Amino acid sequence: MPMSYANPHEALEKVWGYKAFRGQQEEVIETVLQGRDALVLFPTGKGKSLCFQIPALCMEGLTIVVSPLVALMHDQVEDLKALGVAAACLSSAQTDEQNAEVRRQLSAGMLKLLYVTPERIVLPSFQAMLGRVRVSLICVDECHCVSTWGNNFRKDYLALGNLKALFPGVPRIALTATADPHTREDIIQLLDLADAEVFVDSFDRPNIYYEIVERSNGRAQLLEFLNKFEGESGIVYCLSRNKVEETCNWLNDQGFRARYYHARMDPQLKTEVQEAFRMDEGLCLVATVAFGMGINKPNVRYVAHLDLPASVEGYYQETGRAGRDGLPSSTFMTYSMQDIVQRQRMIDENADSSDETKRIERAKLNALLAICETAGCRRTAILSHFGERYAQSCGNCDTCRNPVEQWNGTDAAIKALAAVYRTGERFGTGHLIDVLIGKVTEKTEKFGHTEYPVFGAGREHSVQTWQSVFRQLLAFDHIGIDHGNFGAVVLRESAADVFKKRREVIFRKDKTRADRKAARSSSAGANSRAGLSDVEATLFERLRQLRLEIARDAGIAPYMVFPDTTLVAFARERPSSEREMLAIAGVGETKFKRYGDDFLAAIAD
Ligand code: ADP
Ligand code: ZN
Repeated sequence: MPMSYANPHEALEKVWGYKAFRGQQEEVIETVLQGRDALVLFPTGKGKSLCFQIPALCMEGLTIVVSPLVALMHDQVEDLKALGVAAACLSSAQTDEQNAEVRRQLSAGMLKLLYVTPERIVLPSFQAMLGRVRVSLICVDECHCVSTWGNNFRKDYLALGNLKALFPGVPRIALTATADPHTREDIIQLLDLADAEVFVDSFDRPNIYYEIVERSNGRAQLLEFLNKFEGESGIVYCLSRNKVEETCNWLNDQGFRARYYHARMDPQLKTEVQEAFRMDEGLCLVATVAFGMGINKPNVRYVAHLDLPASVEGYYQETGRAGRDGLPSSTFMTYSMQDIVQRQRMIDENADSSDETKRIERAKLNALLAICETAGCRRTAILSHFGERYAQSCGNCDTCRNPVEQWNGTDAAIKALAAVYRTGERFGTGHLIDVLIGKVTEKTEKFGHTEYPVFGAGREHSVQTWQSVFRQLLAFDHIGIDHGNFGAVVLRESAADVFKKRREVIFRKDKTRADRKAARSSSAGANSRAGLSDVEATLFERLRQLRLEIARDAGIAPYMVFPDTTLVAFARERPSSEREMLAIAGVGETKFKRYGDDFLAAIAD
């Protein structure tokens, strides 16, 4: 019979080697242990898993975990096994023999946690198999899947509404990182959780650094960003399959270890790439947004977007894959006027969507652009999009670390809009800028624009500044692009207010390359070595190498040996005895038994 722990703290210490609960973990655990239902809405990385894994270990009998993704399920089971916990899963991805062995362990009462898919838990045959097993807790992980609002709606999740009837008196806990009110209502209703205690935590991810820059030379900018992350793993998102493949090949030419992933790949290859990302260190994964669901690698150290994401929600979800372990992690996005134009075009020209849908899509794009163009704190802007107030400046985003200069661009805006208007809303930005700076070209002459009063009226600004002006006018929706007319710039309704000086226009001053370089050296690379001295960093690298070797031999992911946070603490504190090592967060009893001596030796070396 696997052992149960006397109380949550004991389990936390002995199994995980953690010293204290995080946020509301303890309250959730108490609620469940008292036999009440709980709904847990915490952001990624807050430690949702412990909220049901610890009760599972403190209660007698079995905890059943319903999880939507087979890959996630296997990861968690492996994680738990590495901690010495009796966990298993039943899944179609296992062989018949493997599943039979799990059933045997189950009826012998040898399991504490059993992971299954939503399809399986409601099967009568599964119910029958549970037979005399005492089920002490039911957990529904990623419970937003039940919602018709989430785009990952799963029909088989609907049957989970019966869990209460199927397991009368057994407490249930549902968890998700999706917290919008619609989804929450759906979950409560469809999972019959009206009486559940609801736990909500701030959606802030304080360890994630946000940076968004105008694209000047996308590849050079990406290189500059990636150079900070030697030996670390990360994801680079691109919009199209072609760009994914090209970028990946190019990165390999540049000496990075990169692989790519997109939806159209052979399923077997996809699995292989996902595995490589999980098991490897220092791999750069170039992918479309198809990659990410079901990736719970805790030490993804950076996420870069080379194209505009689909929405603020998408941006937050994708960047949120960085730094689940709580260590400093960086995100980076480049975008340009072209991206905005292209996105608007996709929205406007989508024959399948109604006017209402287009309106919503445009509003979503504008919300994203507002975050891109803000001169204020990115985190404040992002969280306010999700209805959360974040009063101060965060100090951990590009605009907080290197405040953006602003300038009153009302006059410039008026000149730009005048150039659009006077030339008949028929030209693209390139030509409009020629007109503004008074550049004589074949085209300006042909249309007689050299004779217009606005010709040369904007000589005081550079071409770059005018590009920035047009991009921001577009982002603020003062101008639009007529896709049916070769991308001609047209005026939007709000342009009139600007013209009549009823509205001031404040622009961000775009950063030059030199500005960005200076900023970068001041923002100390947000990698896992951040804050370590040179000596400590060297030791950290050695320990990371040792971890990789151990993981390879054991056929598990490196982070399952010890998380990065633990290696950082080893490098700082240099434990030299069992007692000192056990005092470090992340060193539980099982892991010390398995790996303690190897690491003690390496540290003493
Ligand atoms: P979520 O499911 O909310 O995204 P996880 O459960 O995967 O988060 O936890 C994220 C990371 O934080 C994991 O590496 C986990 O071991 C670690 N963690 C969770 N709770 C604690 C704690 N109380 N102290 C230290 N680390 C913790
Ligand atoms: Zn900030």
